[in-house]
Amino acid sequence: MPPLTGREPCTTTYGFFLDDYNPHSGEVIAATTMCRRCPAIRACFIWALTNPALSTDGIWGATTPWQRRELRKRLRHRLGSKTMRRALVTEYAKALAELPGPGRPDGASA
Ligand code: SF4
Repeated sequence: MPPLTGREPCTTTYGFFLDDYNPHSGEVIAATTMCRRCPAIRACFIWALTNPALSTDGIWGATTPWQRRELRKRLRHRLGSKTMRRALVTEYAKALAELPGPGRPDGASA
């Protein structure tokens, strides 16, 4: 997972690992709403897409397991496995670089 600061909602709140991931359920909507306010959402989302074996369960980057499976399937179909993997690695590096730096009072990227 991306390096977390402890300010991300999932580090202080339960409700990201659920029994039911119906996207219309109140629990999924609550978790994905918290993700959308999280500074790590982009890195988290790309990490989860890149690491399916480590993200089979849970809300990651405002997506459900089913949504990630579908996105991976579409990306693989469009790009092929190797290109998809390379693109995800590149995008993950960019997303990490955009994360607010630890201890930076303005929260700006490094
Ligand atoms: S985007 Fe990722 S790191 Fe942020 S709250 Fe959601 S699951 Fe946690």
